Amino acid sequence: MTADEPSGTAQDDVPQTARRVAFEIERQLGLPLAPGLYLVATPIGHLADITLRAIAVLARADVIYCEDTRHSRTLLSHYTIRAPLRPYHEHNAEEQRPRVLRDLADGRAVALISDAGTPLISDPGFKLVREATAAGHDVTAVPGPSAALAALTVAGLPTDAFFFAGFLPAKEGARKSRLAELAAVPATLVFFEAPTRAAETLADLASELGNREAALARELTKLHEDVHRARLADLARAFADTPPKGEVVIVVGPPEAGEVSDTAIEESLIPILETVSLRDASRIVADTLKVPKARVYDVALGLKRRERS
Ligand code: SAM
Repeated sequence: MTADEPSGTAQDDVPQTARRVAFEIERQLGLPLAPGLYLVATPIGHLADITLRAIAVLARADVIYCEDTRHSRTLLSHYTIRAPLRPYHEHNAEEQRPRVLRDLADGRAVALISDAGTPLISDPGFKLVREATAAGHDVTAVPGPSAALAALTVAGLPTDAFFFAGFLPAKEGARKSRLAELAAVPATLVFFEAPTRAAETLADLASELGNREAALARELTKLHEDVHRARLADLARAFADTPPKGEVVIVVGPPEAGEVSDTAIEESLIPILETVSLRDASRIVADTLKVPKARVYDVALGLKRRERS
């Protein structure tokens, strides 16, 4: 122990920390809440993952809009928050929005929450924020958990640049073209996915993006939280027969240094394109060089275009 370290154990400080937290929340609860729209992040599993400010805003809000009133009541009851709850979800947003805007025009403090995490992140609210700001109302973020950032931070993949890709399209064609666009993004990619589709998505990611480093983060902050870190093909194999249970985020590393250059792809394509179709040539070169088919196909299209011009 050094001279400036306090004596005693961390446990001795617990009552003092509790008093300090109680003091801070009471102080926040005593402040008036200005009218406007508050976008409040709520837990993604662990009920304690909510900021003091989020509790204080929800407790003082005149009305709370949420996706599912029964679901949100569990969280709000836990903190004895009794503000009126009204539904705002993807199926009623169009008709509810004027009502929320009227609440704001009447000078109310309105909170928006989603079932879990940060509202608007693959959840409703974007149009509401746009219309509320256009009407001159104050819009305030009360930040907190989001499954996207929680997964990114535990994945063990580069975090200097990341691209939140949300949910991939369900239809195969749209999905593949989206992945072809994402293949060139020089950043770590973050995807939300339903557990039932995770294996298929991992297989598509491996075939379209290449066998990159990746992680599947499951049930974050909950009892059965775990993170599988492996290359995409290994993750796809691991979950092929037994889909992951619970909620998942898939994080995929950026294109890797030392990857095959476009010039090398062109050099492999040129002789093959003399005998087979563009699609077959792309498949053969992709298999040989172990690069995503979509990327080889783009290079092949570029070659053809240059030949014609
Ligand atoms: N707005 C939320 C947020 O900021 O976290 C995300 C809402 S989105 C409709 C739901 C998706 O988030 C799930 O399908 C899953 O991909 C991810 N998710 C939510 N909670 C999670 C958790 N505890 N662990 C892993 N993924 C989670």
